[in-house]
Amino acid sequence: MVRGSGQKHYDVFINLEHPCKSKCNCPHSDGKRIICKHMIALYFAAYPNEAKKYYEDVVKYQKEEEQRQEELEYEVIYYVHKLKKSELEQLLLQVLFDGPV
Ligand SMILES: [Zn+2]
Repeated sequence: MVRGSGQKHYDVFINLEHPCKSKCNCPHSDGKRIICKHMIALYFAAYPNEAKKYYEDVVKYQKEEEQRQEELEYEVIYYVHKLKKSELEQLLLQVLFDGPV
């Protein structure tokens, strides 16, 4: 049994071998083959090490994404600094009239 965000409690069954056969009687999932947040909550409560591993994966992904974004910004700045004034004017007008490429 899992408590929802309100006061309601839902009956949750998770099938680890066939996740789509998991069941929950919340409005989002009842009668459908949908994985809902109550199933995820039950899974992570039953397997706390998996929750910890998932959290670490998310943090690692976010750091990598920030790094990629920072590298992209540096590339754009480098590219813009290499352009001649006439090329910048042409690109600016192109973006203003046609939108980003
Ligand atoms: Zn549910």
